[in-house]
Amino acid sequence: MRNKNTEKSCKYIFVTGGVLSGVGKGITAASIGAILKAKGYKVSIQKCDPYLNVDAGLLNPVEHGECFVTHDGKETDLDLGHYERFLDFETSQYSSVLSGALYQELIEKERSGGFHGKTVQMVPHFTNLVQEKIEKASEGSEVHIVEIGGTVGDYEGLSFIEAIRLFANRVGRENCLYVHVVYVPWINTSKELKTKPAQNALKDLRGFGIIPDVVVCRTERPAPRVICEKIAAFSGIDKEAVLNLPDIESVYDVPFNVLKSGVLEILNRFVGTNTEPDMARWKEFSRLRGKKWAKTVRVGLVAKYVGNDDAYICVTEALKAAAAWEKVNVEIEWINAEDATAEDFAKVDGLVVPGGFGVRGVEGKIKAAEYALETGKPYLGLCLGMQCAVIAAARRGGLGEAGSEEFGASREAGNDVIYIMEGQKGKESTGGTMRLGDYPAELREGSRVAEVYGAAKVVERHRHRYEVNQRFLPEIEKGGLAIAGTSPDGKLVEFVEAPGCKFFVATQAHPEFRSRPLEVHPLFREFVKSLK
Ligand code: GLN
Repeated sequence: MRNKNTEKSCKYIFVTGGVLSGVGKGITAASIGAILKAKGYKVSIQKCDPYLNVDAGLLNPVEHGECFVTHDGKETDLDLGHYERFLDFETSQYSSVLSGALYQELIEKERSGGFHGKTVQMVPHFTNLVQEKIEKASEGSEVHIVEIGGTVGDYEGLSFIEAIRLFANRVGRENCLYVHVVYVPWINTSKELKTKPAQNALKDLRGFGIIPDVVVCRTERPAPRVICEKIAAFSGIDKEAVLNLPDIESVYDVPFNVLKSGVLEILNRFVGTNTEPDMARWKEFSRLRGKKWAKTVRVGLVAKYVGNDDAYICVTEALKAAAAWEKVNVEIEWINAEDATAEDFAKVDGLVVPGGFGVRGVEGKIKAAEYALETGKPYLGLCLGMQCAVIAAARRGGLGEAGSEEFGASREAGNDVIYIMEGQKGKESTGGTMRLGDYPAELREGSRVAEVYGAAKVVERHRHRYEVNQRFLPEIEKGGLAIAGTSPDGKLVEFVEAPGCKFFVATQAHPEFRSRPLEVHPLFREFVKSLK
């Protein structure tokens, strides 16, 4: 599989969207990737977003969902989390491209004289930079998938569409597969599916010089074949290449639907092999997840953005996958951190306190940890969830005013058991400056955490600015927590646990970012197991 023009052995799949955004372009892209991976290919994937933001670090989780962190410390949007779950692949800083970062790079180059007096323009400078980012992210892969955010025709996305059109000149058209995902609405009053918006979306794409190889029609319910044929006829595309993907209950069944839809044929032709994808483990996961088990476990998620699945998506996905493999049903009960009470905690089998920022809702999270320490209810603390557990323990250990420097004036000075890390002062509102990405931790021999991981040294992803002040260790220990893992130099507390409890583990890291549906993170698996 050698590309004519570049001597590189990579094929590229570009996924664009029409009509509406948010209809499953990312899941379609990830599902295609999962299938190719199951065929034995080395697959990588990347998202290009036309936002003017530089990264996703400062985006509001209410609007944009969780901020996902790559192993090399880039703050990205939650699509990369989907990619990692579907492809069991570690995305990197190159897997996310935002316009803001590209403009920043171009302007810095221009300011330092890097363009030698030339006029700097969207074409070719911006479009070339997009193509360079695509090539960079595809290094070492056999198939590289690129999802373009938004819909074709959006004002700010035009240069990305031009860049992926030009990319075919770079590597040869035969090494590029363009997939356009369109939405076909159901009109309830006339009881019919309307193809016109999809036809227009295809016309838009053609107007930018791209005739797609595959058109995916997203519908609420299965569409009759004639609908796809009509779209094919009106847009000059082979009717075999227009496929229907109706809504289904779980995103993890989308790869099976993609397989049924006929995409496999097209992918086989594109990559040049027709080996059957090995989907055995996906099938097993789908079977376990779809089953109604005799036992149901109830997890209380003590959170600030109550009911907003996207804001904690890696956490909820990890819990659901853990439940499937542990053969139990899971009910996730949202507990509003702002007014959480002991009755709320009593109603569930275990408590999860996820990551977060700022003072709002922290007292409820601290109460949840206090409750778990007192009653022995299983507790899993993630990042802020560990800091709250440490505060709870210190208060139990006699430091009634224990708090975090992050929560400011509400607490008496001198009792901040959580304080700002060295070098983080003054950066509180700046993007990309936290302790981000992979860091190692050494686990204490004989600790529960070491037993759960089955390892003495682990690496987890991080995103924080504050840390445990070890000056308060006597109070923290007296309150019921033991240090179970630290950074190799011993300076940062990475894991704590409550030795007497069935399961009480909290970490400064974000293990949820490394959990996969087919390979659930051991902390989540053990937590769910402890609820049985
Ligand atoms: N706000 C805390 C900190 O910055 C926790 C961060 C988090 O939960 N990701 O340290």
